[in-house]
Amino acid sequence: MDKANKTKKIKEINANFKEQYKDVADKTVEELGLSKETAWDFYNKVLTLLDKLGCSDKREKPISRKVLDGMGIPEDVANQFLRLCEYHGGICDCKICMYAGEVLKDEPTE
Ligand SMILES: [Zn+2]
Repeated sequence: MDKANKTKKIKEINANFKEQYKDVADKTVEELGLSKETAWDFYNKVLTLLDKLGCSDKREKPISRKVLDGMGIPEDVANQFLRLCEYHGGICDCKICMYAGEVLKDEPTE
């Protein structure tokens, strides 16, 4: 594949990715129905569990699911939130923590 074709291919992949996640792309957690405090609470809980259990590297994100469930977050909100995390690179539990800054922006100020 020559360079021009490669660039074209990358552009196509990026466009497909954006298209696939367009329901959540560029949304904030508040727009999905989660407060920033709740989102940070989620993040801290996931970090604690990751420390104990380690990441399964699974796209199903078992730790994140468990935490969201334990916090009583409705399933549709949880699904959207995890899609938003994926959009920002959070494809497994540890990557969610790695990219949390992009998803959650700033930590809430007291
Ligand atoms: Zn991982």
